[in-house]
Amino acid sequence: MALYMTTNRCAVCGSKNLDVVCNSCKTPVYHCRACGADMSQAMEASMQSRIDLAQFTGAYSAEDARSWKRQYQNLDMQDRHFISGAMNL
Ligand SMILES: [Zn+2]
Repeated sequence: MALYMTTNRCAVCGSKNLDVVCNSCKTPVYHCRACGADMSQAMEASMQSRIDLAQFTGAYSAEDARSWKRQYQNLDMQDRHFISGAMNL
């Protein structure tokens, strides 16, 4: 069973610690090391690129930060960004 890291994010918790456990399957099966979830679909690409860009640039609203954090437990985003984002209300 080939195991390697992807650049995808977990659809459940948002972590990038996602392994592909069945790449030869018709549908790749992902396993998240952060929350332990197995899934056939990683985070939606449009959502992931939004979050990755926000994380890279630090440019996102407190509104976004709150909803992302509610939805995903392991985004690995810096808390200080969330805090300063929240203070910019
Ligand atoms: Zn996860």
